[in-house]
Amino acid sequence: MKISAHPLGTLAETDTLVIGSVASGCGAALGAASQNMDVVNADKGKLESSGCIGGGNDHYMAVLDEEGEPFDTADDLVKFYSKPLNGWTRAILINCWYNHMRHFLEILEPAGVKFGRHADGRFQRAQGFGQPGRWRTHISNGMIIKRVLARLVRDAGANVLDRVMITDILVDNGKGTGAVGFNVKTGEFVIIRAKTVVSTQGRSATRGADNSTHNPFNVWMFPYNTKRRRRPWLQGGSGGNRAGYLSKRDAVAQRFWLSGHEWN
Ligand SMILES: Cc1cc2nc3c(=O)[nH]c(=O)nc-3n(C[C@H](O)[C@H](O)[C@H](O)COP(=O)(O)OP(=O)(O)OC[C@H]3O[C@@H](n4cnc5c(N)ncnc54)[C@H](O)[C@@H]3O)c2cc1C
Repeated sequence: MKISAHPLGTLAETDTLVIGSVASGCGAALGAASQNMDVVNADKGKLESSGCIGGGNDHYMAVLDEEGEPFDTADDLVKFYSKPLNGWTRAILINCWYNHMRHFLEILEPAGVKFGRHADGRFQRAQGFGQPGRWRTHISNGMIIKRVLARLVRDAGANVLDRVMITDILVDNGKGTGAVGFNVKTGEFVIIRAKTVVSTQGRSATRGADNSTHNPFNVWMFPYNTKRRRRPWLQGGSGGNRAGYLSKRDAVAQRFWLSGHEWN
């Protein structure tokens, strides 16, 4: 990352800008770094605690092809998730989810995330959310998972811009070329120029949502998501450019997007 002063604030220049530093953002940043790209990972939170994983996750959702384990294959995943109206095609589910499930688990485990295992080495797994198989692999120290992920990202050499709220994605000829935002603590204006922009800003806004417990934290997504991803991204235009939008499960997709992913 090249940093310089700009009349408006600070200018950062990089190969790849990843907006959002959680499951998908960390995956994208690791993917870019592994291909020797200079990468900036910007988030309005702090990498070590931002987003849905910040407070901890207690399981890792995956089909793992374990021998003798029922409903544990790519086909089972596709059968369960691909429905006529939800837009998740077989290619998306295989390329963006399945291909990265075991792969990313095998990155997290040696890095310090403790997955429950039986004496014979098989993963401790449970069934949930109406899924046919035992797709929830237990994590016994899930409260630190974001710290582990953060260390991987920093060790990979990604340039981390904590506490930078992106307000707009810069576009040239339909291609994402950077973004602008401001530091939420200092107010400093930040301009980031990049050859590729990846938005991993989370799926939904849940701050306004209610649920049966009336506890705003007891929701599926991080309660302080503001859905900011929608505006810059729609404004930036997602068609035909090299930028891609990734969300949680694709995130684990640390390798796919740079090598020219196919959504359909
Ligand atoms: C309490 C809780 C427990 C969960 N437990 C599990 C579990 O055990 N197992 C499991 O598989 N899943 C679990 N989930 C779900 C899982 O954690 C999320 O689906 C996943 O982490 C989402 O990752 P993401 O990268 O798509 O998005 P997010 O986590 O939403 O990250 C988006 C990031 O983008 C940043 N951002 C957004 N807009 C901007 C902007 N304009 N400028 C700068 N930054 C921006 C946000 O600050 C945020 O850090 C849980 C979720 C919660 C909330």
